[in-house]
Amino acid sequence: MTMTGGKGMLDVVIVGAGAVGACLCHALSVRGFEVGMVDAETGDERASVRTSALSRASLRHLSDLGLWPLEGVEPSALRALQILDRGGRGRLRFDSADLGEEDLGAIVNHGLLEGALRKKARALGGPWYRERAEEVTITDSGVEIATKGGGRVRARLLIAADGAQSTIREQLGVPVLQYRYGQTALCADIRLGRAHEGVAWQRFLANGPCALLPLPDAHRASLIWSTADQEAQRLRALSDADFARALHDAFGDHLGPLRVEGERARFPLVASHARYYTGPRFALAGDAAHRVHPLAGQGVNLGFADAHALIGTLQSARSRSTDPGSRRVLRAYERERKAENLAMLVVTDLLNRAFRDNRTWVHAILGTGLNVTDSLPLVKTFFMGAAGATTSRTAHDAP
Ligand SMILES: Cc1cc2nc3c(=O)[nH]c(=O)nc-3n(C[C@H](O)[C@H](O)[C@H](O)COP(=O)(O)OP(=O)(O)OC[C@H]3O[C@@H](n4cnc5c(N)ncnc54)[C@H](O)[C@@H]3O)c2cc1C
Repeated sequence: MTMTGGKGMLDVVIVGAGAVGACLCHALSVRGFEVGMVDAETGDERASVRTSALSRASLRHLSDLGLWPLEGVEPSALRALQILDRGGRGRLRFDSADLGEEDLGAIVNHGLLEGALRKKARALGGPWYRERAEEVTITDSGVEIATKGGGRVRARLLIAADGAQSTIREQLGVPVLQYRYGQTALCADIRLGRAHEGVAWQRFLANGPCALLPLPDAHRASLIWSTADQEAQRLRALSDADFARALHDAFGDHLGPLRVEGERARFPLVASHARYYTGPRFALAGDAAHRVHPLAGQGVNLGFADAHALIGTLQSARSRSTDPGSRRVLRAYERERKAENLAMLVVTDLLNRAFRDNRTWVHAILGTGLNVTDSLPLVKTFFMGAAGATTSRTAHDAP
């Protein structure tokens, strides 16, 4: 057990120092809340094979919270998004220039992002337990977390940010709607034959979308290839040369010859949504509350938006000297976030199904939208929104 700080009743205890929990921990501590963290992660922070696309809205939120730019995180500007249909012909392009912006967001290494956020949160010196939270007890006046190593942390509010398989959510008895896509995302670093020029490419294939996201090196991209579970297993077992050939066959020649570099990681894809995000003395945030298909690169962006809303709610409760764990305070957070998270879950799910659908009329519609008008309104609005282009500041922006 590693503990850095005092005992007694804290304002907030957070379980889970992924990107969302670490961001909350830092921001609430800076705003004068006494915050404790319980996080199972004990290993070193290092680069992961997986990247995350951060929307402009997330970058703005992080910057407002003093968390962007981040030391050790080298962003790659996302200047445009190019979408191809199953035939590889149709095109839908979203360009930052159309918005009068320099970029649509940034691509970052997810492991480094998490590591840098954790480092910022830890530097503030609140109690930090590097071990699993095992048991939750809620009383009228507070919540107590029992950790694996025998530690006990008490606070007026518990924030569960312990990810999609949240055991805290389970212990709290929050029902969750969960759906396995039967798809697995394969992630790897890819060397490109042609420079990416800051463009992310996404092609919708019969078994799922395949995306190449630009990395800081102009000839490297991060692959996120969502495909049927068995196909992912087969692809993962191929030699580097055979995998590169399969990827080239799937993706086409848009970026020249493709070569895989290093490890191929796999992530089984699941959609989930908690029936409610809050209850007496607790709130769920990030993947613990909702998990969406990665095709629009939105999971952690939604989590940062949760964090932003929760910080605003808790801050305004404090200015009225209201208990941060009260139902009334927490419901305001839930009301603010639920509709957007649910909408994103539904739309990503529909897009994933629509592009995989074999029926010709579905493809006729998608093809028309992609080829002829370059402006299939629903899809375009969705991706622009996903890139943060349509998200404005809220009243909760930090002081
Ligand atoms: C292939 C793939 C690509 C993606 N691409 C994007 C993208 O481009 N853009 C985007 O926005 N999102 C993307 N996402 C989604 C994004 O990665 C997640 O939404 C995000 O990581 C969730 O962060 P989190 O902090 O909520 O949870 P997590 O990252 O799951 O963190 C949970 C933390 O809780 C800790 N923990 C768990 N249980 C306990 C316990 N009992 N006690 C103590 N600690 C505990 C864990 O150790 C961990 O540190 C992608 C996801 C996948 C799978």
